[in-house]
Amino acid sequence: MAHRLTTCTFCGVGCGLYLETSGNRVVGVYPSTSHPANQGRICVRGWHAHEVASSPDRLQQPLLRRNGRLEEVSWDEAFGFIATRLLDLRARHGPDALAFFNSPRCSNEESYLLQKLARAVIGTNNVDHGAGVYGNNSVNVLLEMLGVGATTNSIGELARSEVIVVDGVDLATQLPTIGGAVIRAKLNGARLIVIDPRRHRVAESADLFLQLKPGTEAVLYGALAKVIIDRGLMNLPFIAAHCRGYDAFLARVRDCDLLAAAAACGVSAGLIEAAALAYARAKSAAILYSTGIEARPAAAVEAAVNLALLTGQLGREGAGLYALTEHNNLQGVCDLGMLPDRLPGYGPVADPAARAALEAAWHARLPSGPGASARAVLAGREPTHVRGVWLCRYDPVSSAFLGDAAARLEQCELVVVQHLFRTETSRYAHVVLPTTAFGEEQVTFTSTERRIQLAEQVVPPLPGTTPAWEQLVRVARALGADWHYGSAAEVMDEIGRVVPFYAGAGYDNLARDYGRQWPCTADRPLGTRFLFGDGIPAGAFKFVPPPQPPPAAAAAADFPHTLVFGNSLYYWHQNVLIQHSETLKREYRILLLDYPEGFVELNTDDAKALGVRDGERIRLRASAGSAVVAARVIPEIRRGTVFVPFFVRQVQQQIGGAADGGPFVPVRVEKEAA
Ligand code: SF4
Repeated sequence: MAHRLTTCTFCGVGCGLYLETSGNRVVGVYPSTSHPANQGRICVRGWHAHEVASSPDRLQQPLLRRNGRLEEVSWDEAFGFIATRLLDLRARHGPDALAFFNSPRCSNEESYLLQKLARAVIGTNNVDHGAGVYGNNSVNVLLEMLGVGATTNSIGELARSEVIVVDGVDLATQLPTIGGAVIRAKLNGARLIVIDPRRHRVAESADLFLQLKPGTEAVLYGALAKVIIDRGLMNLPFIAAHCRGYDAFLARVRDCDLLAAAAACGVSAGLIEAAALAYARAKSAAILYSTGIEARPAAAVEAAVNLALLTGQLGREGAGLYALTEHNNLQGVCDLGMLPDRLPGYGPVADPAARAALEAAWHARLPSGPGASARAVLAGREPTHVRGVWLCRYDPVSSAFLGDAAARLEQCELVVVQHLFRTETSRYAHVVLPTTAFGEEQVTFTSTERRIQLAEQVVPPLPGTTPAWEQLVRVARALGADWHYGSAAEVMDEIGRVVPFYAGAGYDNLARDYGRQWPCTADRPLGTRFLFGDGIPAGAFKFVPPPQPPPAAAAAADFPHTLVFGNSLYYWHQNVLIQHSETLKREYRILLLDYPEGFVELNTDDAKALGVRDGERIRLRASAGSAVVAARVIPEIRRGTVFVPFFVRQVQQQIGGAADGGPFVPVRVEKEAA
């Protein structure tokens, strides 16, 4: 048996684990006891992630649609078809008729080359990642307010935080080893504050549980700020030295009526006061929130950053903001330019200097206007003129919960899919390229703590598959590009030349330790455990005044409940991986034994008032539609809130989603006649 250290590629924690191989097969997994992110622990997904590679359903030959059917063809034929169709569409409709989207699970090398193909070879900024369907609010807000679009501190530092705020993320389900780190910190004396409409497992351990109404986070943070200001607990030296916009922020917060805000959030003023004092008085306090699929509103992210600035909870060990990325490489795909308005390294596409630097490196002219987002192309309500879509490991038909991606793809003249399996999306593909799996290629991913890590090749690729980055090189060359990358390591070397904070992240350096946290540069080859520790430039940070509390919704009487979408442990983002891991698929099915057609979670008291018992069918009425589904009656969810796991797709399809495209839909719950 051989054992090799690698990185779990399931979620954004990026746990270190060993893959055990026998011959050409991965036969086992065990956690690294010394990896700083997980320290000997992995979750059920990590224990079984390798099963995906040995699924009998793997594709082993390119597929091309002929006479309405996908047929096996040679690689040359597949690449020739793609190149011809891309050139034809660009010639007839211009470069913006093509769009290039990937999964936030794609490697750094795939992401970098895909956006380079779009921008430098095709000439369009129509690039985005799958989670972009729900918005890039966290990255945009952090860039605007802090100048860095990422988590500021390390997972291991949670052990040094005196106060930990977990806001709107079910860690035990979404990022389990971080959930464990938070609970261990709590057991060692940290105070734990949880803000969430659902009483999840971490909330059970909270010192203060603020079970707010969904969508009122910004109002709650405004109230926390009001308490801190009224008690004079602001960090005025920090604000004076490092922040802009404080006066406008202060003026707005002073107008806040604490009792009215408490009523709007559904949280007692006493709890708000206790949470504010604990956070402000802590020597080091951390706020953890999810940047994920729930599309946290920008105002909620701004409010959390404002609180950290107000109290100076930044730039020290254990004091910071954790913008948790649930997908394993959401951080990396954003860092490397899979955004319609930002280049690798986050330079705006509209900035001539940012473009010029890349144009010199890539020997190509780059487009200057922002591209179409994945949301606009795959889930928008307005038609686009996109006629060809490239989807790298991305399965929007089964993973997007907004809009109708299938109908959009059906209208395209070219849909290229790179994937391990025939997915729901491949039913609309013109070409499918079979890719290598976890353990079959050496690439890198960047975890939620900015840790750039190697995922190692431990077995040969399944015959008939190739790495997705190599496929991108083949197509670029077929289009006339002078691309000569001999390995993924060479792609990373180029990334290091064009993205300054990856400059020291060559494979040799990454392999010396458990990856490196960016910025990783020639001056700082060991990487950076927490940001701003070397000093913060004057005026580097920016307050954003909180929005005025919205008026009470006019439709509240008609639709008094709030429908919230979220994740479950086994059905998780791209369910295609769970469905191809025998163990995880079995666990997932157990969840559905009692509710074979899916369920929504309903509060026990709400159910009693409606006369609904567990397992009975209820109707959810919204302004745009209605859905009938079984009720799972539980006390953990806040009264007035109905929770729908993403996998119960018929609910969002029949209800039509929120009018603003957000994660909350006002509904009325009715008992359905038997
Ligand atoms: S917490 Fe995430 S990275 Fe760690 S083992 Fe589980 S799925 Fe893998």
